[in-house]
Amino acid sequence: MRALDAEQLVRDAEACVRCGLCLSVCPTYRDTQLEIQSPRGRVTLYADYAQGRVEDPLRVLEAAYDCLDCRACQTVCPNDVKPGEAALDARVTLQEGRPPSRLVRAALALFHYPFLIDLANVFLVLYQRLGLQALLRRTRLLERVGLGGLQFAESLLPGRPVRLALRLTHPRRLEPKTERPKGTVAFFLGCVMNLVFSESSSAAIEVIRRSGWAVRIPRETTCCGAPHIEEGDWYGFERLAKKNLDFYGRLEVDYILTDCAACGAELKGYVKHFADDPVYGPLARRVAEKTLMFSEFVDREGLPGSARFPFATTHQHACHACHAQGVKDEPERVLSFATDYRPLEGNTDCCGSAGVYNLTHTDESMRILERKMASVARTGAEVLTVENPGCLLQLDLGTRRYGPEVKVRHIAEVVLEAMENQGEPPR
Ligand code: SF4
Ligand code: SF4
Repeated sequence: MRALDAEQLVRDAEACVRCGLCLSVCPTYRDTQLEIQSPRGRVTLYADYAQGRVEDPLRVLEAAYDCLDCRACQTVCPNDVKPGEAALDARVTLQEGRPPSRLVRAALALFHYPFLIDLANVFLVLYQRLGLQALLRRTRLLERVGLGGLQFAESLLPGRPVRLALRLTHPRRLEPKTERPKGTVAFFLGCVMNLVFSESSSAAIEVIRRSGWAVRIPRETTCCGAPHIEEGDWYGFERLAKKNLDFYGRLEVDYILTDCAACGAELKGYVKHFADDPVYGPLARRVAEKTLMFSEFVDREGLPGSARFPFATTHQHACHACHAQGVKDEPERVLSFATDYRPLEGNTDCCGSAGVYNLTHTDESMRILERKMASVARTGAEVLTVENPGCLLQLDLGTRRYGPEVKVRHIAEVVLEAMENQGEPPR
């Protein structure tokens, strides 16, 4: 089992030269100005714990859960200190001290069974179509009966209509839409993408086909395990990761493509977890080599010269894309090519979604979100794109709560519309 590596933590703490470069990018330090809420403060605490100098493990666990695991600190640290990854190790190691709530445990169990995700999607579609969502929002009924937390969770659901899950509407294989096929791409169905944003995944698949690739949509896909490791559930993560590696590590395709940054980070990151495993190590390396984010794929393939999206755009990077995978320039190049792209100040700063951080640390998360939406407003963009379902949910709430009135869209939808608009003059 992955656990707090005492030697590594002490090495991290020693490598930290307290230069403070990470302070300005850490959302919790910016919010509180407290050393214990900073990357270097956390690293010191974890190392102290590993050396037996902290008596109360719950203090360490609390610090680990206060961290958003956004890894912005890791991107800027000159000495390769990894406070974000250490936070996950701490959660896994100390989980028994604070087992997840019943609701979180039920949600984690749901992710082990893709058919339950599809069932939940059908309920969600009915919930919206029957007008229950509109009714609950108008009356704020949940809040009135003392379920304010649930009312907030409900407000995170998208306002626009949710479509049926792709597993229910798409076949296992779709042929390319060009005369000369280039090869085959396996499309990794992300749980939350499939549950709430299947329209965006459908757009991504259409872009891949129009780019000359056949698309396989394997039913063998299971959750990438990101929610489990975020909540310290190593065994749940390991079970899911091995299932995916058993299937994708042996699959004969050119690419494994995902439109979810969290899934991309895990598919590429299995290598780290299974490095010493004689069976899963090689499978993990093969999966990592083939995995691409949607924006990486489009950047490599290029868009037709006349592809044009007629609205001004700006882009918020998902932490799991820019900090965990180093995917940052790709979406910006794609958007700069096909749209009137307005760079967003602080676009690599977390939006405050961070797994279930917005549910467990709602006030802090909303402060981060409010600042983010103020930056979005300054761009003057009409469409805000992202490449991760958690950020889509959070930013959609942000527009409703704080403005501005931008449309929040997955980048795949914008790329598809740009391809469809070929030949039409820009506005
Ligand atoms: S940037 Fe790295 S070395 Fe500098 S204070 Fe932060 S963790 Fe320490
Ligand atoms: S991962 Fe994010 S929240 Fe955690 S210490 Fe680093 S910058 Fe701060």
